[in-house]
Amino acid sequence: MIPSRVIETKRDGGELGAEELEAFLQAYLEDRIPDYQMAAFLMATYFRGLTRVETDALVRCMLESGAVLDLGYLDGARVDKHSTGGVGDKVSLVLAPLAAALGVYVPMMSGRGLGHTAGTLDKLEAIPGFRTVLRLDEFRAILETVGCAMIGQTDEIAPLDRRLYALRDVTATVPVIPLIAASIMSKKLAEGLNGLVLDVKVGSGAFIPDEERALDLARTMVSIGAGRGLPTVALLTAMDRPLGRAVGNALETREAIACLRGDGPADVVELVIEEAAEMLLLSDASTQRDGARERAREALSSGAALDRFIRLVEAQGGDPRVIEDPSRLALAPERAVVEVVEAGTVGTVEPRVLGFGVVGLGGGRTRMDQEVDLGVGFEVDVRPGQRVEPGQPLGTVYARDADGLSRGTRVLREAVRVGDPPHPRPLISHRVTAADV
Ligand code: URA
Repeated sequence: MIPSRVIETKRDGGELGAEELEAFLQAYLEDRIPDYQMAAFLMATYFRGLTRVETDALVRCMLESGAVLDLGYLDGARVDKHSTGGVGDKVSLVLAPLAAALGVYVPMMSGRGLGHTAGTLDKLEAIPGFRTVLRLDEFRAILETVGCAMIGQTDEIAPLDRRLYALRDVTATVPVIPLIAASIMSKKLAEGLNGLVLDVKVGSGAFIPDEERALDLARTMVSIGAGRGLPTVALLTAMDRPLGRAVGNALETREAIACLRGDGPADVVELVIEEAAEMLLLSDASTQRDGARERAREALSSGAALDRFIRLVEAQGGDPRVIEDPSRLALAPERAVVEVVEAGTVGTVEPRVLGFGVVGLGGGRTRMDQEVDLGVGFEVDVRPGQRVEPGQPLGTVYARDADGLSRGTRVLREAVRVGDPPHPRPLISHRVTAADV
């Protein structure tokens, strides 16, 4: 296998043989191919896509690059949820402990920030001491005792995804349907699950904004799951505005804690309840949807999910005092409330502008080896369709210094457009299963 020939074949729109592609990926994993050649391959893939045979080879290689967990000894179903990435999407932090409180085991493997979206791992690390890198035996022990455990891709599980994910983040090669599908499904297949719920974002802030293409992504992932015996359900959910109010790592963690305390924004809570119900349906075929929703609402309002979260934080080395006192989260010190200038109706709150705004404030990576500033971001006080008056708060910018505050203020003003006719998407628009939409 000659790496430049593999890149050339993809660049020119040809199809690679499964063995050739696997040899290329294996050589990368063994450091015989440098990042610059893999980056060229990823960019060729951005323009040319991958065929189904190539996609299956990529999934296989990513999955087999590490261990596949055997969790069959657990006394209940293992079901996980994964999002394709959205702005303000803090659902996993609420959903994993909630599902655990409902008796479902959740062995969750997540990612860091990707492109303009913040990642679950970075949000968890906003909790002082929280460890997202665990040995497999620790991961299993926490899963057994708490009911959920949350880690990143490691050298042991899906290491090829870990490396490609980090490279795609900084080379503008995230929004490629087969790359997203393979990245997500390889991690999830490695978790040894009985069921999987996918949250496929659609709208301007999603990696795949267009509805038809988002459906294609959903169908690709559902069929990869079905092909490997993993019952998978995908929901298409709105990302034409941020989810909830908080955008930025520690801010999102604070909002997730508020949800667990019964004080979350309505859209986040609704999505959490729907996804928890889907997880319950997958864990037990005799479950009724309405009953599943009711159980999920009850576990959230009774504090049962919060209790699991506290146990999870303690088990993974985090400081549980952040739950009573969220000021212990590493929030940026400089804050500015930005006010509405003109009266009217909010047309759009552009998630992509806010997401890249966080990256610009240091809250996302522009190079692979970069530390992120977990404390910066935005809290947005207005929603599409809302009537606003001058002087009313538009939102708050959290930044490290005065320069960041003025850049963040510009971002917030650019993101919120007053006067455009609002056309918000339904929070959940489609449900895709192996039997289709
Ligand atoms: N989440 C992932 O794990 N991978 C992607 O490529 C996109 C979202």
